[in-house]
Amino acid sequence: MKRDIWNAVHKCTKCNEVMKKNVFMVGGVSVRGWECHKCRESVLHPEDAQKMFVFNKLRKGLSVKVGELGKNLIMRFPKEVAEFYKISKGEEIKLKADSFNKIELDIA
Ligand SMILES: [Zn+2]
Repeated sequence: MKRDIWNAVHKCTKCNEVMKKNVFMVGGVSVRGWECHKCRESVLHPEDAQKMFVFNKLRKGLSVKVGELGKNLIMRFPKEVAEFYKISKGEEIKLKADSFNKIELDIA
């Protein structure tokens, strides 16, 4: 069984005080973490920190190569992107036009 770090006691690395759960706004996204009420030291939840890392990469734009499969062109999703959006093989994604040079992927 995976250890539930979210509910585990976290002690501040600076002053050894027990840290409190908190939700931080980082770049417009809410991220779970812990904050020390004594020295204001904060730590982000590693899962959310990883999500933030992927999300920030995507925000800047990620290049993917267009391939070919039969008569169709295909696009590959990098693994971390697929995991972030919980996309799996066989799943249907809606393509939506945004402008003449932009397509939106609608992931339900
Ligand atoms: Zn502290």
